[in-house]
Amino acid sequence: MNYMEAVIKEIERLKPELINISRNIHSKPELAFKEFFASDTLTSFLNGQSFKIKRGVGGLPTAFIASAAFGRGTPSIAFIAEYDALPKIGHACGHNMIGAISIGAATAIKNTASDLDGKIYVIGTPAEEGGGGKIRLIEKGVFKGIDLAIMAHPSNKTRVAMKMLAVVEITFTFIGKSSHAAAFPYEGINALDGVILTYNNINALRQQLKEDVRIHGIITEGGEAPNIIPDRASARFYVRALDMKYFKEVVEKVKDCARGAAKATQCKLRVDTGRFVYHPFKPNYTLAGVVRDNMELLGLKENSIGETAGIGSSDIGNLSQIIPTIHPEFAIAKSNIVNHSPEFAEAAISKYAMDMMIKMTKVVAMTAIDILSSPEKVREISREFRR
Ligand SMILES: [Zn+2]
Ligand SMILES: [Zn+2]
Repeated sequence: MNYMEAVIKEIERLKPELINISRNIHSKPELAFKEFFASDTLTSFLNGQSFKIKRGVGGLPTAFIASAAFGRGTPSIAFIAEYDALPKIGHACGHNMIGAISIGAATAIKNTASDLDGKIYVIGTPAEEGGGGKIRLIEKGVFKGIDLAIMAHPSNKTRVAMKMLAVVEITFTFIGKSSHAAAFPYEGINALDGVILTYNNINALRQQLKEDVRIHGIITEGGEAPNIIPDRASARFYVRALDMKYFKEVVEKVKDCARGAAKATQCKLRVDTGRFVYHPFKPNYTLAGVVRDNMELLGLKENSIGETAGIGSSDIGNLSQIIPTIHPEFAIAKSNIVNHSPEFAEAAISKYAMDMMIKMTKVVAMTAIDILSSPEKVREISREFRR
């Protein structure tokens, strides 16, 4: 039996346990940095499979590294696990499946292909939904010495290679002066007007921006009562774009929208720019080619919508800028159910989703086998990365 047949058979054997793990994590959605149950579930499984485990890496209690080395111990491949959920709507991004795929692929390789040379890791990365877990782990050197990274992400479509948008969160806080809204309005400074003008200024800006830009926000403070001129109001925006240079320009333009609003309303303005900027995703097409071949072997078809349609942002973008990385998406339903909706959360434990999860576990494992058994492929991947 060759390696491919062996890993596929091993994943079939692990299937009931992987589905169980995915459903258990789904039933206890945990927010960014608080994914204790999920992190525990994944590391307990890997511990049972005799991986070497380090918990709480990079100063994040719910991050972990599991590893197993064989032969000369190179090349090294990291299977990335995400497991945070969203406020109120739970596992509406399907992160309950990502860890199961990565632990399943890693275990199948460890149990069937350990006479190859290589080192495999499962790296548990908390807080993908806004907390920048991977960025913190990169800063702490957690990915040092790793040749390439693979993960698969649930979606409304199946696609191997795509771009992603850079994103940053900006909070604008306007400070004004309270006053009786009827008797002495001229004594007040209206902070809510600062926020409303900012929102409208940004809407006016949109027409003059390139089409890949996304700016979206909410008002987080807007006063206490209609008869008090609000002395404090705030809004939180995300700004996104495909290209890092243009992204930085747009961020400045958005800040100018708030600065102009502050001037017009006489408010004081505080601008807080999030410390963690998610970078655009840099696909590796050599690595993507290996994934695509394996998907075809399993009869998985891609939706041909190009690589810039229907894209968001992820801290995997930052990782893709420092090592070759691949992040294929897979559809978890036949109909068009989109991420971050209650319907997606519901679909994330359906039979269809679980079947796709197991198929993607196979794709990820088969891709790793191709890499571990072909030093020339590894060189080709890193040549493309360095170009
Ligand atoms: Zn998400
Ligand atoms: Zn996600």
